Amino acid sequence: MKIPPDHPRAESLETREKLIEKYAAKGVVTPAGLIAHGRGEAFDYLLGEKTTSPALRAIEAGAAAMLLAEKPVISVNGNVAALVAEDIVKLSEITTAKIEVNLFYRSLDREKIIGKLLEKAGAKEILGIGRHASARIHELGSERRRVDPAGIYAADVVLVPLEDGDRTQALLKMGKKVIAVDLNPLSRTAQKASITIVDNIVRAAPKLTDAADELKREDPKRCQEILASFNNRKNLNESITLINQKLSSLAEKQKDLTVGGKRLEL
Ligand code: ATP
Repeated sequence: MKIPPDHPRAESLETREKLIEKYAAKGVVTPAGLIAHGRGEAFDYLLGEKTTSPALRAIEAGAAAMLLAEKPVISVNGNVAALVAEDIVKLSEITTAKIEVNLFYRSLDREKIIGKLLEKAGAKEILGIGRHASARIHELGSERRRVDPAGIYAADVVLVPLEDGDRTQALLKMGKKVIAVDLNPLSRTAQKASITIVDNIVRAAPKLTDAADELKREDPKRCQEILASFNNRKNLNESITLINQKLSSLAEKQKDLTVGGKRLEL
């Protein structure tokens, strides 16, 4: 469907179209993935559909953590592959992170389709497909427990965009640092992760790549300083406060449209 460029939600609708196309035609995205995206969209609306300053600070901290990691891994699901495959490949090259396909709705066909999409975006090595996902995260009941021994299982830092809370907690229990990208600052993932980037993956992924690219040219001490001064709880609270302020200012505007408690008919 052609979205008129002057539509106030043009970018958001284009992203939605992209997901629908990858769902309907290629099976990269599942129906549940489309619904999860809708949950994200609602929070994006409240955040003003832009990368906020707390998100920028979390992006910088995330890039620093990935650069300092010994075995960083980027976990990719259907939505992430559909939306930002090229950015994920670039990020993996800059940070030397491995890319692993890890799906809630797992089938070998789907893993392979997602693998192909990542390959087309330039990925040279993709972990977690088929029999390669031979290690187990025992705390997890879902199919996401199957991981690659050379990837998520051995990782010290895992980037988990658009994640469910169970796996984040399991990864933390295994002693890993978890970087989440989640538009909902209240989700279990957002609340539990070591670093939470409250932003749309479509905006956050290229920014994370740029931040890693810049930091890589600096003294590694800079990454340590960034991490030492980053407080995820405080940063999350700032995102929640921004949403709160946005809602309060909208409520104020609504008041202007009422006289004596009655809403004016415009
Ligand atoms: P939890 O189990 O952590 O409480 P959840 O049950 O809401 O989370 P899912 O339904 O799996 O988790 O949804 C994944 C999360 O991804 C949601 O919190 C949603 O806001 C977020 N999300 C969806 N699309 C995007 C996107 N494009 N960018 C960033 N976050 C997104």
